[in-house]
Amino acid sequence: MSIKPKPMPCILSVKDAFFLSPHMIRIVLTSPELKSRSEGCEGANCKIFIPNKNQSPDDLIEQILSGPRPTVRTYTVRNFRKDLLELDIDFVVHGDEGPASNFALNAKPGDFLGFRGPSEVKIKDYYADWYLLAADMSALPVVAATLEKLPKNAVGMAIIEVQSKEDIQNIYAPKGIDINWLIQSDPHIPSRAQETIIRAKSFPDGIIQTCIAGESGVIKSLRTFFKDETQIPKDDIYISGYWKIGLIEDEHQAQKRLEK
Ligand SMILES: Cc1cc2nc3c(=O)[nH]c(=O)nc-3n(C[C@H](O)[C@H](O)[C@H](O)COP(=O)(O)OP(=O)(O)OC[C@H]3O[C@@H](n4cnc5c(N)ncnc54)[C@H](O)[C@@H]3O)c2cc1C
Repeated sequence: MSIKPKPMPCILSVKDAFFLSPHMIRIVLTSPELKSRSEGCEGANCKIFIPNKNQSPDDLIEQILSGPRPTVRTYTVRNFRKDLLELDIDFVVHGDEGPASNFALNAKPGDFLGFRGPSEVKIKDYYADWYLLAADMSALPVVAATLEKLPKNAVGMAIIEVQSKEDIQNIYAPKGIDINWLIQSDPHIPSRAQETIIRAKSFPDGIIQTCIAGESGVIKSLRTFFKDETQIPKDDIYISGYWKIGLIEDEHQAQKRLEK
């Protein structure tokens, strides 16, 4: 069996950047290199490399390949329009101290970033009798992309926590998915609202698949719940901590590696 080589990192240019809602900026990225990426990668994660001030695209690529490691962050492909060579990434706006959030806040056409990926999509086959999706704003892109890919007759529940009612998005979902929007105005205060709803739900019989991601404290507690209090097989559960209160991404990733 031949293994498909991973695409090389490349430079993507900002074609457009705009607020989708008060706490979410969409950046439309483009490059001829996107010709080599596969359609259907919405919901997969990717690495973005933030250039230093005055750094050229060639220099950033050189740094990605040979080091020292540039500032790198993990994001989700929200939309990919291969015919137009356009890829959208939706960034939570959480102030200017995070390099990625700061990049998004200042992004304008002609800016660029380094890009590696996308990786494989999180859920490759949809075979459940009932789906459970849950997200905060950082995981809204993966949950929205997953909702769009579910079979039309899918049934289940989605819980999406956003910072204000203006952050509620109009997203496509099969009719059988009950979407619950929750408001948590300060994402730095640990929220138990998603867990409360999930615990209160009596899960139906049959196969259940999940797509759950968000702040690591919330995720840790939910992971324990699924492990200790449900019979859902591990392979049917996608659950992942996407960021952690008080930690920058490198610290969070290091902590995740230690916990494995
Ligand atoms: C697989 C995967 C996919 C992801 N996809 C997306 C995506 O599509 N869109 C998206 O916005 N994020 C996504 N994230 C989360 C994103 O990688 C982190 O939020 C990252 O920390 C942002 O980098 P930064 O440079 O802005 O902030 P950092 O420098 O990493 O952190 C600076 C400070 O901001 C805080 N912080 C980080 N993220 C948030 C947040 N969301 N809300 C409030 N405070 C925060 C940190 O705790 C820290 O105190 C994804 C993460 C993973 C693992």
